[in-house]
Amino acid sequence: MNTFVVANPHKCIGCKACEIACAVAHLDNSVATAGALEAPFLPRLNLVRTPMVTMPIQCRQCDDAPCANVCPVNAITHQEDKIIVNTDKCIGCKTCMIACPLGAMDMVPELENCQPVYQEGLQLNIEGQPVKEKIVAHKCDLCVGREGGPACVEVCPASAFVIVKPADMKKAIKNRRAASAAEVACIKKAN
Ligand code: SF4
Ligand code: SF4
Repeated sequence: MNTFVVANPHKCIGCKACEIACAVAHLDNSVATAGALEAPFLPRLNLVRTPMVTMPIQCRQCDDAPCANVCPVNAITHQEDKIIVNTDKCIGCKTCMIACPLGAMDMVPELENCQPVYQEGLQLNIEGQPVKEKIVAHKCDLCVGREGGPACVEVCPASAFVIVKPADMKKAIKNRRAASAAEVACIKKAN
């Protein structure tokens, strides 16, 4: 079972700190240290507001990931306990975005040092230069390689996020089953 991060809508206050922390956590280090303010805002989770609820939505790292299953160039793979997009392989076909049941997949311009990467050999201007930006699939990667783990979890002032690991999930299910059994036992006794 893959690890994933999920937010509790009853705790979320809609401050967007998670979106900002996510975008900053994924900035190129050289750009972050240079203090480039023109860096585009590309969070890998999205705060959703409806009249009923406010909560961030991000990839659940599906075990049989629909996005990976439909990718025609195998750009999405299972790595350790998460699902990762290889943007070098991605051709921007958007099939994964359509397949994602949560709406957690985005398409964004690929950047290098905050500058767009252009498609090679597809559309050239009259000088023969590439003119169309390369667009790639973009989603939560659980802040892979980040020392403190997922930035959204760390920054949330309402402690709305939970990191769910396979062992936690098994323990929760076991406790739930025990509670159900105890409830049934109580009902029988009362009758
Ligand atoms: S940081 Fe926490 S409280 Fe703020 S929007 Fe994100 S989940 Fe909600
Ligand atoms: S957009 Fe990229 S990652 Fe998504 S299905 Fe197409 S090639 Fe694969």
